Amino acid sequence: MGWLDWAVDDPAPGNCGYRFLNVPCEIDPSLRRGLVLHSVEGWFTYTNPSAVMAARGSSWGVTIMRSGRVWRHRPRPTFVNWHAGGPAQNIGTDGIEMEGKGQPWTPEQKTSLLRVLKETWKWFGWSAVVLGQPTDKTQEDIRQALLAAGYGSLWEHRFFDYTSCPNNRNEWGWLIPELTMAVSRKGTTMWSNWESLGGKALGSPALASWAEGRLDVFVIGMKGQLCHKWYARGKGWKPAGIRGKWENLGHPKRPLVGTPAAESWDDGRLDVAVADEAGEIHHRWYER
Ligand SMILES: [Zn+2]
Repeated sequence: MGWLDWAVDDPAPGNCGYRFLNVPCEIDPSLRRGLVLHSVEGWFTYTNPSAVMAARGSSWGVTIMRSGRVWRHRPRPTFVNWHAGGPAQNIGTDGIEMEGKGQPWTPEQKTSLLRVLKETWKWFGWSAVVLGQPTDKTQEDIRQALLAAGYGSLWEHRFFDYTSCPNNRNEWGWLIPELTMAVSRKGTTMWSNWESLGGKALGSPALASWAEGRLDVFVIGMKGQLCHKWYARGKGWKPAGIRGKWENLGHPKRPLVGTPAAESWDDGRLDVAVADEAGEIHHRWYER
């Protein structure tokens, strides 16, 4: 099985990175702990990643451009590199550079990032996604934090080093649930953790999906109104984020009660039926 065989090959120059780290990482796979997501802060908008590596003496495994294009700098994640500060943070982690200077990830970048991460998890047989936590930043602290986090951990550069990278760009709130679901789908028996969708409801929710990666949730709100929230893979929860407010679809003359029923018969079509407080049933539908 290959690793990112679909990506653009852009081999890292041979003369960069902590070369003395090659041996332990290659021999001892248990040192391969996770990945560090970096922000490339705009350098690659006018040049290419391998040129930057050559100029800076650094190296990392993958660069994901704002266009969604993925550069693969080594044929597999080798954990032989220098992407984040001192040796400890480079033993057991490989780096992923996200193009852009403080900008949010583009939808194309998010799609590619998920693809890269899912494939990397599969390649190693990692079965859990753990978000690392900032360390006290001595080399020993970092080493201990990496070992404690276990396989498949995700980090950002400034968890280890005093740096502006990735400048608050990493959308962990979106990425971790996406990735946890992806890992679960892989055939392991693991469920995600609970995540709060916020809001305040009278009854139980109803769910429907009109397409792969799409989920719609309906629930009756405190004033008897129909509330709606939806999830689209690659875009996260709408209309206002996972814990943000729900779309208010109102109610007919009388307030609604109970649990709505929701169903989809086709791509872009949604039907909801719900009872009002007098027991009359109402139907509302959406068609894209
Ligand atoms: Zn960085």
